[in-house]
Amino acid sequence: MTTEIKRSQETHQTLWDLSVPGRSGIRLPNSDVPEQALPDASLLRDELPLPELSELAVVRHFTQLSQKNFSVDTNFYPLGSCTMKYNPKINDVVASTPGFSAIHPLQPEETVQGALELMHNLQGILQEVTGMPASTLAPLAGAHGELSGVLMIRAYHERNGDSKRKIMLIPDSAHGTNPSSASMAGFDVVTVPSDEQGNMDLKALEAVADDNLAGLMITLPSTLGLFDPGIVKICGIVHKAGGLVYGDGANMNAIMGRVKLNDLGFDVVHLNLHKTTSTPHGGGGPGAGPICVGEKLVQYMPSPVVERQGTAGQETYKLVTPPDTIGALSAGHGNFGVLVRSYAYLRALGADGIRQASGDAVLNANYLMKRLKHVYYLPYDRTCMHEAVFSGKWQRVEGVKALDVSKRLIDYGVHPPTMYFPLIVEEALMIEPTETESKETLDSFVDVMIAIASESTKSPEVLVAAPHNTPVGRLDEARASRQPDVRYRA
Ligand SMILES: *Cc1c(COP(=O)(O)O)cnc(C)c1O
Repeated sequence: MTTEIKRSQETHQTLWDLSVPGRSGIRLPNSDVPEQALPDASLLRDELPLPELSELAVVRHFTQLSQKNFSVDTNFYPLGSCTMKYNPKINDVVASTPGFSAIHPLQPEETVQGALELMHNLQGILQEVTGMPASTLAPLAGAHGELSGVLMIRAYHERNGDSKRKIMLIPDSAHGTNPSSASMAGFDVVTVPSDEQGNMDLKALEAVADDNLAGLMITLPSTLGLFDPGIVKICGIVHKAGGLVYGDGANMNAIMGRVKLNDLGFDVVHLNLHKTTSTPHGGGGPGAGPICVGEKLVQYMPSPVVERQGTAGQETYKLVTPPDTIGALSAGHGNFGVLVRSYAYLRALGADGIRQASGDAVLNANYLMKRLKHVYYLPYDRTCMHEAVFSGKWQRVEGVKALDVSKRLIDYGVHPPTMYFPLIVEEALMIEPTETESKETLDSFVDVMIAIASESTKSPEVLVAAPHNTPVGRLDEARASRQPDVRYRA
């Protein structure tokens, strides 16, 4: 009995391992129709191997599997640049309202006016938050927004007969999706270095800003968690050379309600609604990466854009295609369920709430930075924004890597921070607490980080072998994502 209990809870038995011939979780009623002969054997499939189990065994199996998941609903999740804030459940309730969840993208527009109104209103809020005059909700993720943004920049230069502009500048701290998007759109990527403070090196920027320049992709705040005070100058240099500025707004959680990106000189910016506006994410989606654009790019936006027509009290909403559009990005109109959650979140907060959320996010990150900077090396010792990037350099002296610190955190019930990114920080540990965590949670996280730092000198072998209390230890992550094998073979 004991072994059986242990077996089902601690090992990785499949339903087939638990199967007992003849056991069943269902009982079908006696047939009350005449029996019919089966079709010709060539039309029948082989024996279907299904596990035979009681209902209780199935429920336990899946419940136990679900408990092996790490989630923001169970534990602290300071995964830098991913903004793993709490996802209010009311957003899910709103999104599952049948008027939103039971409609189809090909339904006639007059039958989905409410959904279109929501999309139109969301466009409006995002325009207000970014200060940009137009937007579309079509991109399905941050990287998808980037791709549409750089395709629009390409369309703009081509229309101006300026197609020799092939250079896309990208800072050395950038997220990997930035150079990928630029090269997918046919640009040659040139890296701009950061200076000692972590800001963009303006001299280096000026040196490469010539008439081959298509544009610059810049993240604000940067992936070092820093607000570059030279941002207006940077945009000015790019514009003077005839280029456009793409803003990666995935880190908008630090500045929403506080900075108008249009005024800084951005021509297009994407937002990561799944990060900033609290919709569940992880494991590949779904997400939403709307783009907000300045005057120069409005005509190139991907379709659809939701427009309001008619007079007050008699408004109707329509899906429209901008005149010089780069095209549609997907079969539907965007990840609608994410858009509904996002709208619910933004309306619940209101303008003051949005401003307070970004303020609290920055406050929480600075609190962690101040409390931890004597224990972990802080490469850029200045006020941070939504996240603080530490380095595991001091711990490496003992043979302990940032990876080991991260794996040990799992034993303490904390999700690892983002590691080894940005690439310009050695042994990087990028910590983003978000605004939804309490001071008590932040304090216990600090205690854990201090305990791990002390273990790294007293018992480094414990860290190197961590995690110790998870169903599986260290996985071959690269192979898991390149050759995923999620099929059961009997
Ligand atoms: C998350 C992130 C992205 C990519 O967003 P996805 O939705 O994962 O495609 C791009 N840039 C930065 C800075 C990010 O943090």
